[in-house]
Amino acid sequence: MTPKGKHPPRRPPSGLFNRLLDSLKDLFTLVLDQERRIVYASSSFLEHFGLEWQQVSGQPCVKLGSPFTGTAGEEMGFCPLDLGPYFSVHHFLTREADNQKFVYKGVFYHLAHDAEGTWTVCTFRDVTHMFNLESQVRHLDELERQLVQAAMDGIIVNDMLGNILIFNEGAARILGYRPGEVIGVLKVNHLYPGKLAHEIKQLIYSPANGGVGILENYETEARHQDGTLVPIWLSARILRENGLEVGIVGYFRDLRERKRLEEELLRHERLVTLGRMVSHISHEIKNPLATIGGFAQQCERQEDLPEATRHKIKIIHEEVQRLEKFLTDLGSFTRTAPTLKNPGDILALIQEVAAFMEAGFKERGVVFELQTSEKIPQFAFDPGQMRQVFINLFKNALEAMPHGGVLTVSAAVREDQLVLALADTGLGIAPEQLKSLFTPFFSTKEGGTGLGLTICRGLIDQHQGEIDIASEVDRGTTCTIRLPLKPF
Ligand code: ADP
Ligand code: MG
Repeated sequence: MTPKGKHPPRRPPSGLFNRLLDSLKDLFTLVLDQERRIVYASSSFLEHFGLEWQQVSGQPCVKLGSPFTGTAGEEMGFCPLDLGPYFSVHHFLTREADNQKFVYKGVFYHLAHDAEGTWTVCTFRDVTHMFNLESQVRHLDELERQLVQAAMDGIIVNDMLGNILIFNEGAARILGYRPGEVIGVLKVNHLYPGKLAHEIKQLIYSPANGGVGILENYETEARHQDGTLVPIWLSARILRENGLEVGIVGYFRDLRERKRLEEELLRHERLVTLGRMVSHISHEIKNPLATIGGFAQQCERQEDLPEATRHKIKIIHEEVQRLEKFLTDLGSFTRTAPTLKNPGDILALIQEVAAFMEAGFKERGVVFELQTSEKIPQFAFDPGQMRQVFINLFKNALEAMPHGGVLTVSAAVREDQLVLALADTGLGIAPEQLKSLFTPFFSTKEGGTGLGLTICRGLIDQHQGEIDIASEVDRGTTCTIRLPLKPF
């Protein structure tokens, strides 16, 4: 049994629909006839635009724009010329009464047919407020994006699965990737060596480093695109939305420059201490050595010596000479002679050193080449000190090419620097030794002092320049020197 109401269904009272539409204050309604003339306008519409029914009654809908819009381009109003069965519009209109700008969202649809054609209903709302809010949000988004991008520090945001969502220009600069190669492509653990990403995540969740969900100023390493490790200072936060963890943001600072300065300072301090020690020791050794050498020479001159004894004394004399030479080397390492810079032709100096060592080159079958594709301007340097640098480096190159090879020196101007590259085709240097080359007394040679490169770096430092060595085993070694081309 179907329950029946007490009353039979009521027909809506006439005018109910008008009253209904009029009561929907924020929804404006128009009804258009076949010719798209206005046959009904809700009172909310009339009120909103400050119009009287007589002004719009029977007017073509396309004209509607004109009474309350001023600006060109708005003339069509919100009634399109060509109406389909359903048509949605978004329009800017300026209300003439108070010159206020509004944004409307409207919908046109065919209501029904009767003998004379189709009725079209248009309903629309004022969405100005929402539109403004949206554009404010868009503006804020843009501002935030620019802020993130402009930050000097690297900023990376990843979701809980490790997918990278934000990778700013700072991060790109520090880690060598373009953002497009990372966002949506790489997982965050790819940016750290080994299991480091996992360890960092554990630190973020532990309370020890600024609280749960926070990691502050943690010194660690990230992996550069070229595989090298970049020392960084990392701070990270867990991102939450409605209490749920949605991702992690990491801010990091490049520590390479700071590390380099620290190391340089340390090296400098070490060298100063070492220098003092060395000069003290060599002073103590020099005098007795001179005595030993002198007497050995005297003894050697005696005529009635058995041959075996003479030979032994000769060896004493030679060894003393070797030690004296070593002390002289030590001396140039510790001496901080003032640098006397004068304008000069560095290529001529290089040629001069090469000529001086020509016999050595020939003996080993080493070919020397000097290459320049441009004119090298004169600049100020200390010829004595630079001569010493080239002698040390050429000697190393020679010693690395026992069976011959090519030593090429090329010179080029890069901005305000002279870049000299000394490349040999010798034995090369094992990667694990590269770090120690400039450490005093580091030598892989029997009888080597391990001071040559240390002295070179000291002298290049005095010229405010830089010296670096790159090498590949069995391929050769290239030593690069950069010197400021200062005007004099
Ligand atoms: P030494 O020549 O007395 O060993 P250096 O300071 O001049 O001291 O050089 C240190 C070390 O660097 C050398 O023992 C050698 O292992 C390495 N080295 C320097 N220059 C070269 C080169 N051109 N080729 C190969 N190894 C080199
Ligand atoms: Mg040497």
